[in-house]
Amino acid sequence: MSKARFGGRKSLGIFQAKQYCPSKYTSMILNPIMLWDLTRVITKWVLCITLSPIFRRSLGQVCKIFFLAALFLSSDRNYGNYETFYPVIGELNFLAKEGIQIKTADGPVQVHFALALILGDNVGINSLIGMVDSFRAHYFCTGCKEKNENTICQIEENSALLRNRVNYAEDVRTNNYSETGVKEECVWNRVYSFHVTEGVAGDPMHDHLEGVCHFDFCIIIQQCIAKGYFTLNSLNATIICFDYGCHDIGSRPPMIRQEHLDKGKLHFSAAEMMCFTTIFGLLIGDKVPEDEPGWRLYILLKETLDIVLAPSVLEGSSDLLEALIREHHSLLVEQFKVNLKPIHHFSVHYPRLMTQFGPPRHFWCMRYEGKHRPLKQIANATTSRRNLPYTVALKHQLQLNARLMSNKGLESEVKSGPSSELPRHSLNRVRHLNFLLKTDKVFHVPWVEISGLVAVQMGVVP
Ligand SMILES: [Zn+2]
Repeated sequence: MSKARFGGRKSLGIFQAKQYCPSKYTSMILNPIMLWDLTRVITKWVLCITLSPIFRRSLGQVCKIFFLAALFLSSDRNYGNYETFYPVIGELNFLAKEGIQIKTADGPVQVHFALALILGDNVGINSLIGMVDSFRAHYFCTGCKEKNENTICQIEENSALLRNRVNYAEDVRTNNYSETGVKEECVWNRVYSFHVTEGVAGDPMHDHLEGVCHFDFCIIIQQCIAKGYFTLNSLNATIICFDYGCHDIGSRPPMIRQEHLDKGKLHFSAAEMMCFTTIFGLLIGDKVPEDEPGWRLYILLKETLDIVLAPSVLEGSSDLLEALIREHHSLLVEQFKVNLKPIHHFSVHYPRLMTQFGPPRHFWCMRYEGKHRPLKQIANATTSRRNLPYTVALKHQLQLNARLMSNKGLESEVKSGPSSELPRHSLNRVRHLNFLLKTDKVFHVPWVEISGLVAVQMGVVP
């Protein structure tokens, strides 16, 4: 079983479902489906599919709760995508048509789910939806039919070449993946109300933090060193000596080696790259002139990431993002004379994806990648290799059960210390507060925590 065929080191898919009631249309739920590679642990691939809801604004503990949908060996995929995934497809169709009944204060409510998004790293997604899984193919993009040779200098999305239901059906009928990029009809189209041309989005973690950032920083650092603004040793010294604070110390980037720069790939994790992107301007800003193209490239990259990784965006942010990506890609092509990579092509689709699905950070794979570790720990903890997927699945379900029974991760966004009721007239001297209060009851609390921010009397500490 080759890794390339099934998505390389880590394959991942995420499903976003819309929740709706018979009488009203309610909030959205994110359901990830993940494929884990436990190669190092059991010498075979284990692929795992999970469903997870995100039903509050802050992506805190809740998004770490995963509902296991399927867990199987990668060798099972020899039989094809449909034979592998049809139990999950059946479950998703059941959730869409029959739904589940939940108890509310107003009585039982029937909740239905609709599969809306499949997410993951690009190779894994291509394999999952039946498209070519090589970026050297003529048509490698799941979102459009831009030719490979045109993408090396493409600075913006070509809306005329986007995949849609009509040209996708034609591509399936053509049955020639070298001309269309489609190997087989996507099995997930059998899920009620889902179509692959409308339900696949990018992942900013893989596309930007593990893609564009590496490419850009290798160019920027090498050019700055060549021009004598700083040396690699001095840059590494500033990386080591920088005061990261208690929040970023766990994501402190490692030292950079010349061979990493030559290969165009730094040995940074996504979290380390996010930290490095944030502090890079502080590290070298006093040494590099403002009109230096490398500095301009960094600023464009940083501004792009600020939008892509923002938890919430304004309505016109997609236009700004489109302009930043266009300028960023133009600078690389015209000033640095480099051919753009497939990751740069994927980024040109982000403004449209942001308009359709909201802030990209809400469908990145960072949290789901973090799920690899506990599953590997479970696999490592058992010496038996007989039906290992069952062992891992059973332990995962027991852990989930314990978590749900203890309500861990389901706490209220607002917590406070012990409260004591105050007389209403005690607030009369604070007129604006008096105006805002809509209730007759007022309580005093020593501290309050809202979405992770703790306020203690007049001071606010993170
Ligand atoms: Zn494309």
